[in-house]
Amino acid sequence: MTSEDAATTLERDASRGGMPLVCVVVPCFNEAPVVAALLAELTAVMGAATFPMRVLFVDDGSTDGTGEALARACAGDDRLALLRLSRNFGHQAAVSAGLRHADGELVAVIDADLQDPPSVIPAMVERWRDGYDVVYGVRRDRKEGVLTRAAYALFYRLLRRVADIDIPLDAGDFSLMDRKVVDALNALPERGRFVRGLRSWVGFRQVGLAYERSARSAGRSKYGFGRLLALALDGLVSFSWLPLRLASLVGAVSACIAAAYLAWALMARVFLAQTPPGWASLVGVFVFLGGIQLVVLGIIGEYLGRVFDEVKGRPPYLVAGRSGWVGSATRRG
Ligand code: UDP
Ligand code: MG
Repeated sequence: MTSEDAATTLERDASRGGMPLVCVVVPCFNEAPVVAALLAELTAVMGAATFPMRVLFVDDGSTDGTGEALARACAGDDRLALLRLSRNFGHQAAVSAGLRHADGELVAVIDADLQDPPSVIPAMVERWRDGYDVVYGVRRDRKEGVLTRAAYALFYRLLRRVADIDIPLDAGDFSLMDRKVVDALNALPERGRFVRGLRSWVGFRQVGLAYERSARSAGRSKYGFGRLLALALDGLVSFSWLPLRLASLVGAVSACIAAAYLAWALMARVFLAQTPPGWASLVGVFVFLGGIQLVVLGIIGEYLGRVFDEVKGRPPYLVAGRSGWVGSATRRG
């Protein structure tokens, strides 16, 4: 059943008619140029919302004064809070930190750069009232360049093909989650956290909500090509065995080809009394097989490295400081 079918069959959930507290998690890394616009937008959405809202900023080791600006904002508004990580741990770790420290019946995750408009959150809450536990934003239209868009499209389709779970197309971290989903995510022990994949993995009733993904409001993207590639690889390797299986498949196929070739060479030698010509072909075969072996080693290494990271058991992030409502009351895990 697709999520659209589910939408038509789900009854409106009566138990969700109340006023849930919505906590918005915002990971921020060197976002000084957008802080003012972000605060203005969030304050406007909070003011207009028909349900109580709170914000939890996670300063992921910014060095441009983002943390200080956010701390000042928190001092002036008791709906705001700030969690400061001890250094830059990366976007996914920052989101995980936010999820762990967020309170409220509902938790939303947005980007600091206003690419995920906070004004969509009320619509997400509406879908939650319909009975869904996860409402994730689906990018209707990307404002990035053609190449980037093509890369994204390829990645999401590839992931959907090879991952053992159904990660929705063009869905990022922008989402609204029920408390039980957040608790389930927080209970997952893994350290390498590809949040959108885990969110899909935990299940529950999920639905997409199309939204217009605008261009970054100011500042520049922290995801260069290298980081995007690393994120893509993370998603692929942590959710799929396929690369490893592919390695065995390639091995099996080349072994078969080699066996056939050997049989032919032997026959030629015995029955035709001639040695197949071949310095060049021999070298070709060696180099080809050597290449395949190295690639396969690399694939195994990708998995092994992740196993190494998990086994070390270091936490995915460290908290260095708190301000606002997160300072005292909540301390989960
Ligand atoms: N971010 C973060 N830590 C990082 C990199 C990024 O917390 O190491 C945050 C960043 O501040 C933003 C969000 O993650 O709120 C998404 O980053 P960005 O907008 O640079 O990514 P893009 O939208 O280009 O994919
Ligand atoms: Mg962005």
